Amino acid sequence: MSTGTHQYDLLIVGAGVSGSALLYLTARFTDIGNIGVIEKYAAPARVNSLSSNNSQTLHCGDIETNYTLEKALKVQRAARMLASYCLNQPDRDHLIYRYPKMVLGVGQQECELLRERFRVFSPHYPKLQLLDRKAIAAIEPAVVTTAGGKMREQELVALGSTDEYTAVNFEALSRSFVRQAQQVEGKHIDLHYNETVKHIRIEDDRFLVETGSTGYQARALVVCAGGHSLMLAQNLGYGLHYSCLPVAGSYYFTPQVLNGKVYTVQNDKLPFAAIHGDPDVLVPGKTRFGPTALILPLLERYNYHTLRDFLRVFRFDRRVARVLWDLFRVPDIRNYMLKNVLFEIPFIRKILFLRDVRKIVPSLRYRDLSFARKVGGIRPQLIDKKQRRLLMGEAKIDTGRGAIFNMTPSPGGTSCLENAEIDMRAIAGYLDAVIDEKALREELPGVDTEHGVEDFTGRLLDAASRPIGRLKRLLRKLKG
Ligand SMILES: Cc1cc2nc3c(=O)[nH]c(=O)nc-3n(C[C@H](O)[C@H](O)[C@H](O)COP(=O)(O)OP(=O)(O)OC[C@H]3O[C@@H](n4cnc5c(N)ncnc54)[C@H](O)[C@@H]3O)c2cc1C
Repeated sequence: MSTGTHQYDLLIVGAGVSGSALLYLTARFTDIGNIGVIEKYAAPARVNSLSSNNSQTLHCGDIETNYTLEKALKVQRAARMLASYCLNQPDRDHLIYRYPKMVLGVGQQECELLRERFRVFSPHYPKLQLLDRKAIAAIEPAVVTTAGGKMREQELVALGSTDEYTAVNFEALSRSFVRQAQQVEGKHIDLHYNETVKHIRIEDDRFLVETGSTGYQARALVVCAGGHSLMLAQNLGYGLHYSCLPVAGSYYFTPQVLNGKVYTVQNDKLPFAAIHGDPDVLVPGKTRFGPTALILPLLERYNYHTLRDFLRVFRFDRRVARVLWDLFRVPDIRNYMLKNVLFEIPFIRKILFLRDVRKIVPSLRYRDLSFARKVGGIRPQLIDKKQRRLLMGEAKIDTGRGAIFNMTPSPGGTSCLENAEIDMRAIAGYLDAVIDEKALREELPGVDTEHGVEDFTGRLLDAASRPIGRLKRLLRKLKG
């Protein structure tokens, strides 16, 4: 096994949108000079960030009725950062897209909920409009008419906008991050494709990372490998109180019946977003409906070798059983889980899915739906055994000793830069590196300015960076 040549300041495992965003940020905005990336496949973004494996939505928080205002504003900031990056790129038209978007309320209760949401959210979202039936019809005619071409009888209200960036090709974005990082002058960046990290050890403050054939050394390590991040963290003795519950999402294609993204109001008893209809940025002339939410014993969709990996991170015990039982006890969740199993069974699945999808487009027919084969990834949801609950959103294990492990279910695509910024600050602090705050603020408006402080020379330093980093390293050495 060779280790000599592969020594890095920072080693990133996984070149999905999370790992590649971190590569870009650290290459472009820090003085960390020597960065390596290890990726299992032959190119970036072949797993959940692949364009066909997610809904391609740039989540801003306003129409996602499962988000509170606090969560929505956090996502809005992340989306703004991402849009700033994309709009600065020469190939921006292949990265980010404008489509109308709305969340549709059907019936009195949902319409009331949306009116109230508009009252609370509109001061923070200047482009958000409260749409009545006529305004909905002007944007999405298929939503307001029945199969017979008549007007739908139920009360309808929507929240939405027509002039915003709403979709991202996260696969193209990952490739763009890698390309941009490689173009930064004075940096040594190695990309090791077709290498799978099998094992990580710590020796003398260094991480020894082993793939099948090669050994790598690094002073700092960030693992962005989806559900496999948890496996590698546990391999090193971290995150042992987590279990991973992989939730796969499937989609159905129909002829193009929508012009933009149409979400539905979330049942607040359910842990996953309700299905929605979206354009697919790479499949013109179709509308894609989904995702479903099926619990599958795999860490990677359609890769049955990952069954073994799932068993390693599931860590089934009484506490996991308790969390699952608590979920299963709620009738809405139980029925939803069952329905999602049936969504995978040929013939039945189309009939059941049609019922749900008609809430968005009532005129859709059985023959309009086709199951989207090999489309849809897996959300690695974590179960916290200590708190005895299912965690929604992204999870991070920061060891505080130069290693970070990221697990990124939705909206992990949208928050890739925000999340990478957190990691960049932590790693810069650990490695005693400098962040170019000024460039960061200028190029990616929306970044966390709270961490930026100016020193007396007028140069912008990261507050968590030099002095605290040095102190932490000194304390570690003294302890050691
Ligand atoms: C059905 C579905 C719909 C979604 N919709 C949206 C959406 O609309 N908007 C949004 O913002 N987010 C969405 N998401 C979430 C989003 O797709 C993910 O959060 C995001 O793609 C995660 O990126 P990642 O880089 O963390 O993981 P991944 O893209 O999964 O990348 C992980 C990488 O690590 C590599 N890897 C794994 N193990 C190893 C190893 N041992 N050694 C080396 N490399 C390894 C893999 O090959 C892979 O390239 C959705 C997710 C799903 C499943």
